[in-house]
Amino acid sequence: MKYSQVTTENIRHLATICGQEHVFSGSAIHEDYKHDEMTIYGKFAPEVVVEVTSADQVPHVMRYAYERMIPVTPRGSGTGLCGGAVALYGGILLSLAKLDAVLEWDEENFTVTVEPGVLLMKLAEEAIKRDLMYPPDPGEKSATIGGNVMTNAGGMRAIKYGVTRDYVLGMTVVLPDGSVIELGGKVVKNSSGYSLKDLLIGSEGTLGIVTKLVLKLIPLPPFSMSLLVPFDDLKLCFDTVPKIIQSGTGPTAVEFMQRQVIEAAEEYLALHFPHKSAQAYLLLTFDGRSEREIEHTYQRAAEICLENGATDVFISDTEERQASIWKARGAFLEAIKTSTSDMDECDVVIPRTLLSEYMRFVDALEHKYAVRIRSFGHAGDGNLHIYLCRDDLDSRIWQEKRLEIMEELYSLATKLGGQISGEHGVGHAKQAYLKTSLGPEALYLMKGIKKVFDPQNILNPGKVCFSEKAFDPSEAAI
Ligand SMILES: Cc1cc2nc3c(=O)[nH]c(=O)nc-3n(C[C@H](O)[C@H](O)[C@H](O)COP(=O)(O)OP(=O)(O)OC[C@H]3O[C@@H](n4cnc5c(N)ncnc54)[C@H](O)[C@@H]3O)c2cc1C
Repeated sequence: MKYSQVTTENIRHLATICGQEHVFSGSAIHEDYKHDEMTIYGKFAPEVVVEVTSADQVPHVMRYAYERMIPVTPRGSGTGLCGGAVALYGGILLSLAKLDAVLEWDEENFTVTVEPGVLLMKLAEEAIKRDLMYPPDPGEKSATIGGNVMTNAGGMRAIKYGVTRDYVLGMTVVLPDGSVIELGGKVVKNSSGYSLKDLLIGSEGTLGIVTKLVLKLIPLPPFSMSLLVPFDDLKLCFDTVPKIIQSGTGPTAVEFMQRQVIEAAEEYLALHFPHKSAQAYLLLTFDGRSEREIEHTYQRAAEICLENGATDVFISDTEERQASIWKARGAFLEAIKTSTSDMDECDVVIPRTLLSEYMRFVDALEHKYAVRIRSFGHAGDGNLHIYLCRDDLDSRIWQEKRLEIMEELYSLATKLGGQISGEHGVGHAKQAYLKTSLGPEALYLMKGIKKVFDPQNILNPGKVCFSEKAFDPSEAAI
C-alpha cells in the first residue's frame, strides 16, 4: 500500500479544519505521541498531529486524508499496551483527547452520553456523585472512554459486571471515507441485523473513529469491602478461584498477586502493604447496598479460602485500608516497569480452572530461559498479565529469549482453549500470535471486514490483522 507523504499544503489545510494551534508537525510533535505505554514496541513519529476539538471536524479530516491516501491513526490517552495508537506509517495522528464533554446524564434511562476523550476517572467520579456506577474498571484511570471502547477494556470488576462491551449501547462513528453512521442507541436490546456496534468495539481504531458514545449505567452499590487472602502455595491459590466463583458468593473482583510484585509496588510507592510474607495472594472485593446484605457472602468466601489452604484472611472494611491495598494493586505495572531496563507483556486469558497449570509452566519458563518473569492479573477472569524483564541481558540475547518465551506462552494458551489477549488488544505487537491462534479461515474473515470498512487501508494501518510476523523492535522506525 503506497501512502502519500504529508506536505506543507496538507498541514495548512488541516489547520483550516482544526485551528493552527491544534496542528503540530516536525519538532513541535511531543515525544509522547511516538509511542504508547509499552515502549518496547518502538517509536514511530507521525508526520503531523491533529487535535480535534469538535466532533464535526473528524469527517472533514477523514475525507481529506482518504482522498489523498494519507494514513490516519486515532489516539486517546496513549495508555495502550500493544502499540495500537502509534503511527506506524507516519501520516496523521488524530488525537481525540480534547473531545472530552459529557453530553447528557439520562438518569431515567440509566445512560450517559459522552464524547470519546472523556477520561475513565472523570466518568466514574461523576457517576458516583449521582449515585450511579459505570462498572468497567480497567487499571489505568487516565485512559479515555474512546480508547476503552476501542480495546474493549476489561479491568477489576469484569467478573461480576462484565467488560466495556457490555456497557456500550450506542455510538456515532466516522468511517475512513468521512461518512458518519449511528449505531444502536438508548435501547436495552437490539436484534436489528449484524451488530456493527459490537464489531467496532475492540476494533482498535482500524474500522472507524468513534466520536460519541451512549453508555449504560447501574445504581451505585454504596457499600464495598475487600478480603486480602495469603497462600503459601501458588497452586492452592489458583485452585481456590473456581471454588469461589462456583460458590455463588458473587465477588466484584478476584485479583491475583505474587509476593515479588507486591514488594516492587511497595518500593515504587514507598507504601507499606498490610501483609507480604506469603507466596501469593488473592484480593477479593464484594459490593452491595449494605454490609448486612453482603455479610453472609464475604464470610462464606473467606471460609472457602481457608478450607482450600489460605493461611489467613484479612478483612478491609474501611475506606483507608481498602484504598492502600488497591493503590498498590494499581501500581503493579509501573512498579515492574521501573524495576527493569525493558519489558514485554503477555495478556493471555485461559479457562480459570487451568490457571495453576499455566502458572507452573510460566515458572518453568523463568528457569529454562533465565529471564525474570513477574505476574499478576484478573484471576477471576482467567486473565494473566505476565511480564518478561530484560534486566541486564544484552540486546541480542534478550530479543531471542523474549520471542521464544512469548511463542511458548501463546502456544500453550491456545492449546488450553485460551485467547492471546484478554483485554489489552493486538495492536501491531501481537499480530503474529493472533494469526496462529485464529487460524486461516477466521483471519480471512477479519481481513475481509477490514477491507469493507476501509478499502484503501488508511485507518490505523498495520494493526490487528495486517502483518503476520512477530514484531522485531530492531526493525522499528525512529
Ligand atoms: C498502568 C496500566 C494499567 C492498565 N490496566 C488495564 C486494565 O486493567 N484493563 C485493560 O483493559 N487495560 C488496561 N490498560 C491498558 C489501557 O489503559 C487500555 O488499553 C485503554 O483502553 C487505552 O485507552 P487510551 O485512551 O489510552 O487509548 P490509546 O492507547 O490512545 O488507544 C488504544 C486504541 O484505541 C484506538 N482509539 C483510541 N481512541 C479512539 C477513538 N475515539 N476512535 C477510534 N479508535 C480509537 C487507538 O487507535 C488504539 O488502537 C492499562 C494500562 C496501563 C498503562
